[in-house]
Amino acid sequence: VTYTGRYTTDSRDQLLAKISKQLKPARFEHVQRVEQTAIQLAQQYGVDVEKASIAGLVHDYAKQRPDKDFIEAIHHYQLDPELVNWNNAIWHGVVGAELIKAELGIEDEDILNAVRYHTTGNHYMTKLAQIIYMADYIEPGRDFDGVEKARLLTSQSLELAVAYQTKHTLAYLLENNQRIYPKTIETYNAWVPQSG
Ligand code: GDP
Ligand code: FE
Ligand code: FE
Ligand code: FE
Repeated sequence: VTYTGRYTTDSRDQLLAKISKQLKPARFEHVQRVEQTAIQLAQQYGVDVEKASIAGLVHDYAKQRPDKDFIEAIHHYQLDPELVNWNNAIWHGVVGAELIKAELGIEDEDILNAVRYHTTGNHYMTKLAQIIYMADYIEPGRDFDGVEKARLLTSQSLELAVAYQTKHTLAYLLENNQRIYPKTIETYNAWVPQSG
């Protein structure tokens, strides 16, 4: 994918260099696999492959930042004050999007929303956001019960795949007595019941 300058002034190599400074090697490898998976899905589903590449590469940009960076950003960008009661798992997408905008100069709201919703989903997701949500879940390094089913579904129907991931992630969180972020429940209600 050759970047056109519409979404970032960086070349892909320049963007990769910035991301590699933020992430340990294993996480840097993961985001490159998410990028490649997202590009393939973008080709299949008629989404801009440049946006898929950028969103895939940046989706975990903030994953390894200290908690204090997120707390500061929640205040600085006047995000939902309830966010301070959560943790890195929730922050790195929704708060991370603001750091990506500020530090990488990426302003495209479709790309930023794909990052914001990549962990919890959202009641409304564009095709790009659905692709990043799924690519993160099924990239070739993922290995969990159900991943093959998720890969097959993703190749057949993005919507059914989003519903599948949403249901299985919620079930996993419940099984492990984890706190459920309200948006995770919103996503469940929007995507799962009507998927039959
Ligand atoms: P990663 O950044 O590539 O590892 O993947 P994600 O960003 O998709 O997920 C990060 C973590 O957030 C995973 O461990 C999920 O299980 C967790 N997670 C997703 N939704 C929720 C939620 O509603 N509550 C909690 N406590 N964790 C969640
Ligand atoms: Fe993530
Ligand atoms: Fe995910
Ligand atoms: Fe990820």
